[in-house]
Amino acid sequence: MALDDLRDLLIEELRDVLSAEKQLVKALPKMAKAATSPKLKKGIEKHLQQTEAQVQRLEKVFESLGEKARAKTCKAMEGLIAEGSEVIKENGEQAVKDAAIIAASQKVEHYEIATYGTLVTWAKLLGETKAEKLLAQTLAEEKATDEQLSLLAGTEINLEANEGDAEEDEE
Ligand code: FE
Ligand code: FE
Ligand code: FE
Repeated sequence: MALDDLRDLLIEELRDVLSAEKQLVKALPKMAKAATSPKLKKGIEKHLQQTEAQVQRLEKVFESLGEKARAKTCKAMEGLIAEGSEVIKENGEQAVKDAAIIAASQKVEHYEIATYGTLVTWAKLLGETKAEKLLAQTLAEEKATDEQLSLLAGTEINLEANEGDAEEDEE
């Protein structure tokens, strides 16, 4: 597809993020399964439901623009998920693995926040009000998820991961 104007670029980036969200619908259940902390597990499961709704929301965005909802492989998300999967397969302390799962999840959320932030800006500039509103809704969800992960890491998971290390030092 030729990128002749900002609208072309908007559609191209929407195809990328549609792929990213679809990849996450497949990857998040594995992340939830690998997590030990019940709060982390629950948080990931909740975000899976949100992610499924985000795919449907993106389909509405395409519809509002009169375009077909076609995904184009997001290589960045492939990479982020591949890195997250490596962590899941490692042996080790459960709390430490939970900390690693949060780190991987936050990389994903930050990628999404960057992408949706740009998409909202472009949609607004193009006067695509409906698309802008829908995309802003998802952006807010990604930001909230990122904040919840930070909170969980800061109040529990990182502390437990650090304790695991301390116990080992005592032996
Ligand atoms: Fe998402
Ligand atoms: Fe991408
Ligand atoms: Fe997300």
